Amino acid sequence: SDHDLKYPESPAAMDWAQHYPAFAEPQSANSDAIATPRAMTKQVQVADIGCGFGGLLFALAPRMPETLILGLEIRTSVTEYVQEKAKALRVQHSVAGADESASKAVVAQHENATANPQHGLYQNVSCLRANTMKFLPNFFHKHQLSKIFLCFPDPHFKARKHKARIVSLTLASEYAYVLQPQGRVYTITDVEDLHHWMVGHFAAHPSFERVAKEEEEGEKEDECVSVMRTETEEGKKVERNKGKKFVAVFTRIEDPEWP
Ligand code: SAM
Repeated sequence: SDHDLKYPESPAAMDWAQHYPAFAEPQSANSDAIATPRAMTKQVQVADIGCGFGGLLFALAPRMPETLILGLEIRTSVTEYVQEKAKALRVQHSVAGADESASKAVVAQHENATANPQHGLYQNVSCLRANTMKFLPNFFHKHQLSKIFLCFPDPHFKARKHKARIVSLTLASEYAYVLQPQGRVYTITDVEDLHHWMVGHFAAHPSFERVAKEEEEGEKEDECVSVMRTETEEGKKVERNKGKKFVAVFTRIEDPEWP
């Protein structure tokens, strides 16, 4: 149940410094620390909706070390697990930390990882507890995000449960609001019916356009697609069971110009 969930009044009211301390501006001496949260050098740009145990988050973090990535998850214990794991990985891979060689090894694995030497790795990943079907625009400004991941959402098979699915026309409008033009929504599921449901809703929405097939699979595949196929916990489970994975990627198109 989510009756105890708290939502910020607006994105500006969120205390992001608590989630990403390495990306917070230094506290100025005369600022009103209680009334306003600390300013940030960056904003969250990537959201993983229903992130579960964070497999995707921790795979993306070292690949884009200067991009803030946020998991949103409704289960309390799972959210705490992801938060604790992020803290532990930060210590393990901090530049001044004991295990510097491990950090270098991770950076070396990812050619485009140009981690800020002062930050170390995994400073850019966090998780918060939220029901993403409610108040998503309270967390993010209009056009703030560049990528939204919807990985193996709960299928809610029965027709009377379809309203609990995290894709609907209304929710597609919320995703469109928080996504910047040219931003992308990534979807993956092993439930074919849910795949068609998600494709149907995004395709019907005027703000979204499906990307070319070659970007979803094959030579021109978007790197994020291969990461979500292989690094999500559910993706791994489906692989073990030799199941099928259905992928669809959508671009947020520019709003039409008003005359
Ligand atoms: N994305 C992960 C993966 O691919 O391994 C987890 C998939 S799991 C089947 C679905 C997750 O979504 C669960 O962890 C569940 O608690 C979470 N979830 C379901 N409804 C949600 C909601 N309305 N808001 C936030 N999280 C939600």
